[in-house]
Amino acid sequence: MIKVVKFGGSSVASATQFKKVKNIIDSDKDRMFIITSACGKSDDEDHKVTDLLYLCHAHIKYGVPYDDLFNMIYNKYMGIKKELNLKVNLEKEFDIIRELMDKEVGVDYLVSRGEYLTAICLAEYLDAQFIDASEVISFNYSGEVNFERSGELLKNKIKKGKKVVIPGFYGALPNGTIKVMSRGGSDISGSILANIVNADVYENWTDVSGLLIADPRIVKNPKTIDYITYSELRELSYMGANVLHDEAIFPVREKNIPINIRNTNKPDHPGTMILSDCSKQDAIKPPHFITGISGKKNFSVITLNKPQISSEVGALRKTLQVFEDFNVSIESVPVGVDSFSVVVSTEGIEKVIYEVISKLKKDLDCDNITVIDKIALIAVVGRGMKNKPGMSGLLFGELGAHNINIRIINQAADEIDIIIGVENKDFEKTIRCIYDRFITRSDTL
Ligand code: ASP
Repeated sequence: MIKVVKFGGSSVASATQFKKVKNIIDSDKDRMFIITSACGKSDDEDHKVTDLLYLCHAHIKYGVPYDDLFNMIYNKYMGIKKELNLKVNLEKEFDIIRELMDKEVGVDYLVSRGEYLTAICLAEYLDAQFIDASEVISFNYSGEVNFERSGELLKNKIKKGKKVVIPGFYGALPNGTIKVMSRGGSDISGSILANIVNADVYENWTDVSGLLIADPRIVKNPKTIDYITYSELRELSYMGANVLHDEAIFPVREKNIPINIRNTNKPDHPGTMILSDCSKQDAIKPPHFITGISGKKNFSVITLNKPQISSEVGALRKTLQVFEDFNVSIESVPVGVDSFSVVVSTEGIEKVIYEVISKLKKDLDCDNITVIDKIALIAVVGRGMKNKPGMSGLLFGELGAHNINIRIINQAADEIDIIIGVENKDFEKTIRCIYDRFITRSDTL
């Protein structure tokens, strides 16, 4: 069995965390490939190394001295080295970085050093082989990962019988220039590696014991999700749940590799399993109707009212075209007979709202356009809802009983989620209400 194991910033934030990582790696011989983030915050006062490196670069750009920031990073790594008794020549590594910073340094190279330094320390500590991501994670010039080439490069580097540590978050262009991914990208690196080595599982170790059914800032002690499908996770992440980087799903989904979210601080907790299909697990223990609830505030609803607008050929296309012209992304388009609405994020439209309305009026010959702000969208996601008659009735009835006015309803044909829009002020109450009815009191359904 091959396991690819990724440790997030909090898992490698201090020497104490490194020790936990070692226990996790040593306890399972299958944990062969290890991807690491840069050191994260070890306490509330501390800073993420990647943030400090971005700040250093901004200082260089504006010609402001960066020594204090640089020393914070230096001291962090030297502290870990000392406490773990490592031999790695970090002084030399820092000299190289410093020299480049004093000449001319690219932002991608500089911010990738957090992962690089963490990985060389971790490799020595775990008695594993260090492989630089710039030598194995290969991007095309278009910015996409070249899986085939990356696989070949890795195959040529691996020494038999040794575990491997690779820094996350970056790779290299064909000319060798370092390129970083978006923030939180080590999740993607782990997923790419899992794809390349055809892993049996991709373990993603972080500081929570898996995904929770609802946001713990809203619902007290929400339960952990034991099993979730990739599709359900996509819906939940899009609407705000963010334990795993959005893009990390694609490379593993392609090969049906399960992702297991685990907690470095509670290694015995099984965490959450993300699978392409949970039917085997569901046959043993039927899932809740609802797998998870997530949501976001601050959407605007733009409604066009015109008699029989829905039967006017091309009306919808013309409307959507206006939003496209102003580069505004659309969340949903609820359609009525004499009206239809376009739901967008307020942030995405506020700068162009007057231009959009006047163009809509002109292009659709429609005078009656209204805008409602302060709308929250909530995604109620669950494979268990599929083919269950009465689910939406139950949901809407429950919200009605709690005096929550539903402004928008949207359900796609695959029936794995129902999106509802409520006023911002009802956001938390709605999530608590759904959790209570469908999870806490699920036995009475
Ligand atoms: N260190 C990078 C960041 O802070 C990448 C990662 O941690 O995944 O975004």
